[in-house]
Amino acid sequence: MLVQNGAGMMEDMETSAAACSEQQKLMDEVIKHLRRIADLSRETVLALEKRDDDRVRDLDHQVEQEIGRKERALGRLRQHREDHGC
Ligand SMILES: [Zn+2]
Repeated sequence: MLVQNGAGMMEDMETSAAACSEQQKLMDEVIKHLRRIADLSRETVLALEKRDDDRVRDLDHQVEQEIGRKERALGRLRQHREDHGC
């Protein structure tokens, strides 16, 4: 993402955001869970279409667990940004 800095120069936000390795690690964690939720959701659609009720129930449970993990990871990321000011 490009942003205008004080000097009127365009600066790459990605570069400055990546300066904190802990933040990057926490962000990767959130992304990992979001991707997993997306994959599980696609699998749930297939199971629904096949009317595989047991599989739907199992996948639905996994989606719920992944959402919980994503929420906690997002909370850690927000907390780190607040504490570290990054
Ligand atoms: Zn930081």
